[in-house]
Amino acid sequence: MKKRVLSLFLSTLLILSFTACSPTEDAAQFFAMDTVMSLKVWGDDSVCEVMEQRTKTLDAQLSSVDEDSEIFKLNQTGSAVLGADAHALVERSLQLSDELRDSFDPTVYPAVLAWGFINGSYRVPDEKELQKLLPLIDSSAVRLDGDTVTLPDGMMLDLGAVAKGYLADALRDTLADSSAIGAVLNLGGTILLYGEKPDHTPFKVGIADPDDPAGYFGYLRCREGVAATSGGYERYFEKDGKRYIHILDPTTAQPVDNGTLSVTIFSGDGILSDALSTALFVMGIDKATAYYREHNDFDFIILTDDNTLYITEGIFDDFTLADGFSFELQKITR
Ligand code: AMP
Ligand code: MG
Repeated sequence: MKKRVLSLFLSTLLILSFTACSPTEDAAQFFAMDTVMSLKVWGDDSVCEVMEQRTKTLDAQLSSVDEDSEIFKLNQTGSAVLGADAHALVERSLQLSDELRDSFDPTVYPAVLAWGFINGSYRVPDEKELQKLLPLIDSSAVRLDGDTVTLPDGMMLDLGAVAKGYLADALRDTLADSSAIGAVLNLGGTILLYGEKPDHTPFKVGIADPDDPAGYFGYLRCREGVAATSGGYERYFEKDGKRYIHILDPTTAQPVDNGTLSVTIFSGDGILSDALSTALFVMGIDKATAYYREHNDFDFIILTDDNTLYITEGIFDDFTLADGFSFELQKITR
């Protein structure tokens, strides 16, 4: 009898200690912001649902194509009072555009439309049409008075290059208010790493192979932060043997064609990671390297079409090339 009580006591202890070191796991997958998102959370079994709702609400506010969104209405009427999220993102986007000048500009939207990237009716606008669009690409002409945004005639905003980064930051706040101890949120090219995995090992982020984006050319081991990747492979069309991608050079209104295949930015700030992934893609490797050397708040992985992979020193040792890839690795130092 004594023996049975003792073994019952021991097995209860075992179950208790087992549950103590394996926290609950929760996951969700859904479609938002034109992409599939997948969430994985440790230590909280209700926050995934809260994050899914927050994502759908933000998508409905920030979309340029949803006719009920604040940004769509602003683009139609030229002036609108924005809610707190759209306002915060527009304000930060304008600041970033001011700093990144010729490589990141949320007023590039009329050109994005002209090339057919929004409705899928792809076309190559002629030089005359592009010249007419250029004066509309100028974020310094956007007026922000309190909550009211006003655009000059014909100008339109596109937050597509930063919306997922803003979402990553917003969901980090949601996680901080929950009992989650760790999370990996794949928001479609923008990945938030939060807290820690239960086994305390680093997170492992796969970087999409531009030739086969379902696969990865390598992995980055990292702690908390946001990894954002921009690539021409995400949306493009081909005409007369030439490829036209969805990332445009704001100074020419033309798709970027500078030998860059993919840019991943790792930083602690979602909007920054997302804006820089687009901006450094436009800059190309030389200007991107110069920009990196002037700043100390991010790292990058850039793949170019001559099979060279440039990785900044802050993350160089944390990157592993996947089997079957033989890029020339270049370490970018400060
Ligand atoms: P991402 O995938 O984050 O690089 O964002 C690309 C999206 O941002 C495109 O599909 C366009 O909607 C928009 N975009 C394209 N070029 C630029 C640019 N140079 N600056 C800001 N937004 C851009
Ligand atoms: Mg981006």
